[in-house]
Amino acid sequence: MKKGMVYLVGAGPGDAGLLTMRGAQLLGRADVVVYDALVNADLLRLAPKTAEIIYGGKRSSEHAIPQQDLNALLVEKAREGKTVVRLKGGDPYVFGRGGEEAEELTAAKISFEVVPGVTSVTAALNYAGIPLTHRDHCSSFMVVTGHEDPEKNESNLDWAHIAREPGSKVILMGISQIARISQELIKNGLSGETPVAMVRWGTTGKQTTLVATLATVAGEVARTKFSAPAITIIGDVVKLRSKLNWFETRPFFGQRIVVTRTRQQSSELAAQLTERGAEVLEIPTIKIEPPTNRNELVEAMADLGAYDWIVFTSPNGVDSFFKYFFAAFDDIRALGQLRIAAVGPATAARIKELHLRIDAMPAEYLAEKVAGAITAFESIENLRILLMRAEAANRELPAELERLGGIVDDIACYRTVPETEDLPGAATRFLDSGAEWITFTSSSTVENFHARFDLPAMLEKFPALRLASIGPETTKALAKLGQKPAVEAKKHTIEGLVSELERQISTARASR
Ligand code: SAH
Repeated sequence: MKKGMVYLVGAGPGDAGLLTMRGAQLLGRADVVVYDALVNADLLRLAPKTAEIIYGGKRSSEHAIPQQDLNALLVEKAREGKTVVRLKGGDPYVFGRGGEEAEELTAAKISFEVVPGVTSVTAALNYAGIPLTHRDHCSSFMVVTGHEDPEKNESNLDWAHIAREPGSKVILMGISQIARISQELIKNGLSGETPVAMVRWGTTGKQTTLVATLATVAGEVARTKFSAPAITIIGDVVKLRSKLNWFETRPFFGQRIVVTRTRQQSSELAAQLTERGAEVLEIPTIKIEPPTNRNELVEAMADLGAYDWIVFTSPNGVDSFFKYFFAAFDDIRALGQLRIAAVGPATAARIKELHLRIDAMPAEYLAEKVAGAITAFESIENLRILLMRAEAANRELPAELERLGGIVDDIACYRTVPETEDLPGAATRFLDSGAEWITFTSSSTVENFHARFDLPAMLEKFPALRLASIGPETTKALAKLGQKPAVEAKKHTIEGLVSELERQISTARASR
């Protein structure tokens, strides 16, 4: 039997990009993942599909699994010979009970490794524009917990000593105690004017920062109902925030944006949105599967030489077609003299990756434009045209080509089916609290999103919600539901969609 092993892995403070490479590698081969409340659930996608995912909980009051049982669980899974990744927020050894878990593992003679993580102590403050140290302000920092074991009556912390020490003071888990803490510090000699900042959900798209002074902070927390999880910093470095606030000033900061593409395709859009500061909810509503009827595809494949043109209308079409093509032939020359038409730059890019030249490249998926691009090359009359598209695609394009005298075979090389999986809980978060935007990148994302969530009902439930469409086909699908997107990309690409959104959001900001 394989020897079991437990990895205590620091997941970083929230931004998924702050996981270490070692952490990503271990997640990639985990049999079991046990994760905490503060862990970015998107990271769970790095685990194999077959991995058992267990929520270990832990948000002050609502312990999902008591620490004792959690330790026992790690031991039990490791004894079954499994690779267990215990994913913990920030760094496992910074107020995360990682030390206790490692001790338990030692006692049970289970091998373990502890992978450091980027701690919220530095990262959440950094993302709020506050460097922990700065030569002009302080040359030391201390980190304390504001929330000690609730069963202890006496505080272990010597506030007089803490007040006396120079340097930045960082408090984790201190929100509920902030009134007492600030009083103690003032009583022990710190000026009431000392700057204080609190950063909630630091490094994520929902980060919020409160800036006050020692004298005013408790009142501000009460007034704004500022709540955990947040980190507090007391000290002059807080003043640097006005100059160094790089994260909260990003164009999409504060915008929660839903991405509805397939999992395989969503990463580029999600990355571009995240990089501009958005909180992205990836809710893939479709996935790509083989067509229901594969006979037609097999026949077309066997008869490729008989066609004059092959037309691709989406990157999925290219990927699916060539998957079957290379299963049938081992030489690209089996394509023969086929001329190639590709709709849109993303589709064209996929074809170019195969070092194939494109003979006609309509910029838009509009029947007349596609026909026009082919006509510009040669008359369509009597040409045999192979359309490689999604199953149940709309009939406008073949109808237009036939009208111009083409002999068209409209063959499905893939079909889009609804995706219902919600591994990182993004769909649940959307249903709970909505979003600012939903992005649609094809008519099938519209149709399947609607099938899953009832789009008009969602728009009614969340009045601030707006829709962004990649182009006219997608907008048409929205129109069928009686909806009009607030944004339609001028260039029908991911970049085009992102830049149109950016224009819209910054205009809205400027007019506020
Ligand atoms: N091991 C973690 C800390 C665990 S204790 C680390 O290294 O970051 C939990 C406390 O950490 C929270 O109550 C809060 O004070 C702080 N914390 C963790 N993640 C945070 C985040 N993204 N933003 C602000 N504070 C955070």
